[in-house]
Amino acid sequence: MERISGQPNVKVSCLNSLNSLNSLDRLCGFVCVALLLLTSTANAQWFERSWNGMGTRIHVELWGETELQANELIDQVHEEFLRLEASMSPYIESSELSEVNRLASKAPVKVSSELIQLIKKSLQVSQLSHGAFDITYASIGRYYDYRNKRAPDQSQIEANLEAINYRHVVIDEQKSTIYFSHSHVYIDLGGIAKGYSVDRAIGILKKAGITSGLVSAGGDTRLIGNKLGKPWIVAIKDPRREDASAVLLPLEEVAISTSGDYERYFVQDGVRYHHIISPKTGKSAGEVQSVTIIGPDSTTTDALSTTVFVLGVEKGLELVERLPGIDAIIVDQQRKMHYSSELTAPQK
Ligand code: AMP
Ligand code: MG
Repeated sequence: MERISGQPNVKVSCLNSLNSLNSLDRLCGFVCVALLLLTSTANAQWFERSWNGMGTRIHVELWGETELQANELIDQVHEEFLRLEASMSPYIESSELSEVNRLASKAPVKVSSELIQLIKKSLQVSQLSHGAFDITYASIGRYYDYRNKRAPDQSQIEANLEAINYRHVVIDEQKSTIYFSHSHVYIDLGGIAKGYSVDRAIGILKKAGITSGLVSAGGDTRLIGNKLGKPWIVAIKDPRREDASAVLLPLEEVAISTSGDYERYFVQDGVRYHHIISPKTGKSAGEVQSVTIIGPDSTTTDALSTTVFVLGVEKGLELVERLPGIDAIIVDQQRKMHYSSELTAPQK
């Protein structure tokens, strides 16, 4: 089985815990980055821009020589996010993904090699996690409507549970086609596409020579270098307190993704219906409140944060410990924090 990471482990130390959050309350939601003291060198300066895309907030920051260069680069990054959304969104009818969902159970559908490669990576994570990560979750997941507080009923779950199985997705790399071997299959790349897009954006910045910067899309962030000689400080959101942080992490040149049950959800009759679905049941995974994964690239950390969320503390950490270069911080249902063995838990 292919290893999905290959970079040396990055040690992080936790600066704070859920028990002492007051001084951190003003830190922004999701994963956000606190600005460290800036020491200006030459004429270079920080540039940043945020916008809405892929159903979330996208943010780019970089240390650049000129405003013109920075603006051109951020324009390119913006274009890239738009391109990927147009290809991979299940909400855009003309996207390649929508076409696959319409036609692939009838006959193989020809798509871009980029989509094939991302689906291939998704299937690898499915194998690695024995199906906890499974893009066919959407065979039932598509019936959740979080805005209008609607969950699939039992008959919809029963009629489609069999369709949730990554083995139904058959890719032919040579012909660049995708085929579904079950008629009810529907796929969604929501657990991996944002991370992939962040990696593409980072590629653009690095190719242009940027040595300090970051790109984030919702819960997925990737850092280039450090912040003028000091680590970036990344905050992990407290899953149950708006605008509060659970922990601060000093990080450099890594990707970090958080999956939480507070992102898209509604509560009905005491049950929290949220957007991370257990492929075994077709229902929201209930073992933990949030999972943060640190690793070498955002495609990997995005997929693994969703995966470990489904697996829960024990099985999730077991998987993480098998993967070199990957670390995890899990907040369970009792708000207890669990760290993979390479991380140092904060003092109580
Ligand atoms: P994230 O915010 O990265 O944890 O991803 C959550 C998104 O992943 C959801 O909004 C769905 O689009 C997708 N998703 C939900 N459950 C699964 C699953 N079991 N396997 C793969 N993707 C999933
Ligand atoms: Mg994820």
